[in-house]
Amino acid sequence: MSASLLKDAAAQLAASGIDEPQREARILLAAAMNLARIDREPTASERAAFAQMIARRATREPVAYILGRKEFWSLDFEVSPAVLIPRPDSETLVEAALAQFTDGAPKTILDLGTGSGCLLIALLSEWRDATGVGIDVSDTALAIAQRNAERLGVASRAQFRRGDWTEGLDRRFDLVIANPPYISAREHLYLDRDVAGFEPALALRGGEDGLDPLRRIANGLKLVMQPHAFAIFELGIDQAAAARRILINAGLKDLRIAKDLGGRERAIVARLPHQPGA
Ligand code: GLN
Repeated sequence: MSASLLKDAAAQLAASGIDEPQREARILLAAAMNLARIDREPTASERAAFAQMIARRATREPVAYILGRKEFWSLDFEVSPAVLIPRPDSETLVEAALAQFTDGAPKTILDLGTGSGCLLIALLSEWRDATGVGIDVSDTALAIAQRNAERLGVASRAQFRRGDWTEGLDRRFDLVIANPPYISAREHLYLDRDVAGFEPALALRGGEDGLDPLRRIANGLKLVMQPHAFAIFELGIDQAAAARRILINAGLKDLRIAKDLGGRERAIVARLPHQPGA
């Protein structure tokens, strides 16, 4: 069905250096036809919509932005170029959080740099009695996170607020989680065009060594964590040792690294001791 249409589109994507041109062409055609599976010929207007999508993808715009959607933790998130596209790697943070609280769920969660809201919303969907606050500097991101919380049924337990990391927060949480920007200046030179050309630099770039945002967050952590609370942060390539030092200097203990499905050190988990500084 639609074989030559798909073949031509895939060839166009392949010519732009896209890795899985056939698969993406099928995904985009299904989206253009509003179908889960392509089981009929597209109409003329569906063909036109598909051609536009393929043209966008050929510029290397990510599929998630073309669709305006991305699945994360088996939940369907709205996304736009105002927010980082949720990555399967970041599910490592959700898993690490669940593993940390097997004896009882946290009551309160703080998500710093919430973006689409994916981390906070995934956790609130797992812990039905928890409430959470998502902080972001971008009002557009906050509006998207709010809509995601509403559509995914956790809005009554989620609050989204504009802010600069922990600054101005006057309460403490049982869990602090963040996927901060962590791309170093050097790594930025090698980012895929799909990422560097379309995703928000604000959500990606973390200064010279990529760890500036983590340093800023670490500085404020003691004021927003309950005694015994946990903090979980996503890490970039080869950042585990430096992140460990930053968090130890901030007074955190019991550091643990969580690996992603590719075996990379993806997240760092730490605990605030009962008596901060002890
Ligand atoms: N994992 C993202 C990437 O490699 C970066 C996310 C981030 O900086 N927090 O493109």
